[in-house]
Amino acid sequence: MFFLLFGLRTRDELVDNRVMTCEMCGWNAPQARLLRTTKFTLFFVPLFPVKPRKQLLRCGHCLGLRAAAPAF
Ligand SMILES: [Zn+2]
Repeated sequence: MFFLLFGLRTRDELVDNRVMTCEMCGWNAPQARLLRTTKFTLFFVPLFPVKPRKQLLRCGHCLGLRAAAPAF
């Protein structure tokens, strides 16, 4: 019997931290810039990306995620 295990894995990589005003909660808090990558996996081994990489900002106060501006 043969099983084919495949799926997707999303990982967030921390790029840097900056203290900025959050657009969601309005607090002046550290904003973590993340690089989100989603890859196709075969037998739990990530092989190739299936979505374009996306930059996100995560607020240190409210933990809200939002898309980062390109000129961040
Ligand atoms: Zn916030």
